[in-house]
Amino acid sequence: MTGLPLVFRSVSVVGCLRYAERMTSVVQRIRVGRPVFSVEFMPPRDHADEQRLWNAIRELEGLDPAFVSVTYGAGGSSRDRTIRTTGRVARETTLVPMAHLTAVDHSVAELRNVIGWYAALGIRNILALRGDPPGDPNGEWVAHPDGLNYANELVRLVRDLGDFCVGVAAFPYGHSRSADMDSDTDNLIRKFDAGADFAIAQLFFEPEDFLRLRDRVAARGCEAPLLPGIMPITTRKTLAKTIELSGAQAPSRIVDLLDPHTDPKGFRAAGIDLATEVSERLLAEGVQGLHFYTFNRSKATKEVVSRLNLVPART
Ligand SMILES: Cc1cc2nc3c(=O)[nH]c(=O)nc-3n(C[C@H](O)[C@H](O)[C@H](O)COP(=O)(O)OP(=O)(O)OC[C@H]3O[C@@H](n4cnc5c(N)ncnc54)[C@H](O)[C@@H]3O)c2cc1C
Repeated sequence: MTGLPLVFRSVSVVGCLRYAERMTSVVQRIRVGRPVFSVEFMPPRDHADEQRLWNAIRELEGLDPAFVSVTYGAGGSSRDRTIRTTGRVARETTLVPMAHLTAVDHSVAELRNVIGWYAALGIRNILALRGDPPGDPNGEWVAHPDGLNYANELVRLVRDLGDFCVGVAAFPYGHSRSADMDSDTDNLIRKFDAGADFAIAQLFFEPEDFLRLRDRVAARGCEAPLLPGIMPITTRKTLAKTIELSGAQAPSRIVDLLDPHTDPKGFRAAGIDLATEVSERLLAEGVQGLHFYTFNRSKATKEVVSRLNLVPART
């Protein structure tokens, strides 16, 4: 039973879904006729990280994000922590949770069990991902012998198990394993055809990079919501992370904006200005929501969201 979190026991999916049905779906929270924001957290690594995470959750709860998501770890105990954290968000906060789930090292039976566990915790929203090979994201992908190969298969599995709202990943510069933009778009459409309700985009640098992705999807006749992923570049480390996750080099406009700031305060201020400018442009282009990658911190997201005057979704 590789990769199956210790907390699992067999769970009745159908029974659990009665509880899940009471939860609001991400799509309901996005389609409110005005722009919203949402936030992504990671499972905490240790006690100090857990404190930091919960401070961030409580800080952001007051701003009423449309939903909060918790990433799914590469394996073992981090997966327990994803499930525990998402369950605690469902139980102890007013927030709408979304759990990430990957196919890495899971048999279909184990995936069914995790999905059942999410349902038991009252989680109605799942981001269905293939995931990367553990240890080396660029290494060879080897599916579990009784598992799944691609995210569209996981979307189908989640949909078959109940009334979940399902999200998928999208890639403004194309996924690193896609042969070209066309096949990358084919894949995103395949995930929508399998039953995905919305997509969240990987990090990117310029608004146009996201808008081109949106155009590619619209050109295929797909109108599902597509949320841009935003991470304010407040340090050189977050710049490096954006380059790593996006799979693209920072364009010279952005290097020229950030590079002159040798003092951390100046760099941070320039990064917040940049995230605000990119977000404003996207909102002006009609995006329905902005999804903030927080890395378990609240301050930068709060600053940008306040500057954008995003009206709390529940008022
Ligand atoms: C918003 C967001 C959240 C994320 N959260 C997590 C997380 O919580 N945990 C985690 O481990 N990772 C996470 N990731 C990373 C993600 O798991 C990796 O980027 C992974 O490499 C791709 O996942 P996918 O779901 O897009 O895969 P897929 O959609 O399956 O695509 C993977 C590759 O296979 C190709 N492909 C798909 N189907 C076919 C087919 N039928 N035939 C041929 N080729 C095909 C695609 O074009 C693509 O190149 C996240 C990414 C994003 C954007």
